[in-house]
Amino acid sequence: MVFIGMLQQMPDGLADRCPARLTKNFRDKSDLFQMNCEPIHLRRFSAAFRAFERNKRHHHDLAAKKSGCRTRHFHLVRAPREAEIWLMTDGVAADFLPMLAAAESPVGSLVVSVHDVAPITRPSVEKILTDLKEAGVRVTSLLVVPDYHHRGKSVDDATFISWLRELEADGHEIVIHGYFHERPRRQSEGMREKFLTRAYTQNEAEFFDLKYDEAFTRITRARDEFRGVRLSAIGFVAPAWLLSAEGERAARDAEMQYTTRIATVIDLLTGEREPSRALVYSTRSAWRRAVSLSWNAALARRVAIGQLVRLSIHPSDIASGGVWKQIIRFARRFSRTRNPTTYRDWISKERVTRNLS
Ligand SMILES: [Zn+2]
Repeated sequence: MVFIGMLQQMPDGLADRCPARLTKNFRDKSDLFQMNCEPIHLRRFSAAFRAFERNKRHHHDLAAKKSGCRTRHFHLVRAPREAEIWLMTDGVAADFLPMLAAAESPVGSLVVSVHDVAPITRPSVEKILTDLKEAGVRVTSLLVVPDYHHRGKSVDDATFISWLRELEADGHEIVIHGYFHERPRRQSEGMREKFLTRAYTQNEAEFFDLKYDEAFTRITRARDEFRGVRLSAIGFVAPAWLLSAEGERAARDAEMQYTTRIATVIDLLTGEREPSRALVYSTRSAWRRAVSLSWNAALARRVAIGQLVRLSIHPSDIASGGVWKQIIRFARRFSRTRNPTTYRDWISKERVTRNLS
């Protein structure tokens, strides 16, 4: 069983041990913050950045390539000592870090998402949002289930909807999260189907193998229901991130602008896929919690050097002490060094950045 738990928490490619965006020319000892041997102070890009590395392949004509070149010239790397970081003016930074200047964002991003938001989980979600706010995370992507386990439509609960509208007005994002968040068991299921739909999730992988027509029907129904109560969802996330290829196509055709999987954020308008492994916990049993804690402790170090950190929370997480402590510790740590944002805002900034780089 422990092995199954390990599998559950493992990345898609077990051999992929390279942190996101860490390039081959990664060096621990970097002297790259002196331009023409003139050290200059970097004010705008704060300590949060940890360090920059210049990609030598582009150094000869960075300025000329400010437009039209889609390669990112700088990458985040781990800084051996903070003292080595602050050696560039805003002007130079704008010349040499076009993507950052364009995005007007000096630091990496943190997206905290709260899954399975529904009338029945609202009390837990309220506590989660209060603790997150105290930890420095004031906006989240709220993954709302339109009809959680067939308990009734979320849009029919007026107080729940007005609560969501207030959260949206405060900067939170409303995201469509499945429709029923439930998948009936099938008679003839192979090992893979059984593992993913029963051991990995508790029969909740609603969009795991849904055909296009049904997926399209459910997503458009959710979209129209939300629009009907003035909630503006532009993202769709499948339960447990298990989304079939047909489901992804259906989401795009249903005017969803993005979706996410456990290791990627997918811009459905541009086709861009951002690799970023989500921190997520399994709390269904003691051994799953133990595996989750150690796996996420290691993963948090690995994702910390990427541009986007994703922290995914489920309502049950707040009830398990050790897990919740670690989540809040990560929220506090990452919100100090990154911009807490939503998928909606992150995606739109990425589009601007890509167009200008
Ligand atoms: Zn869910």
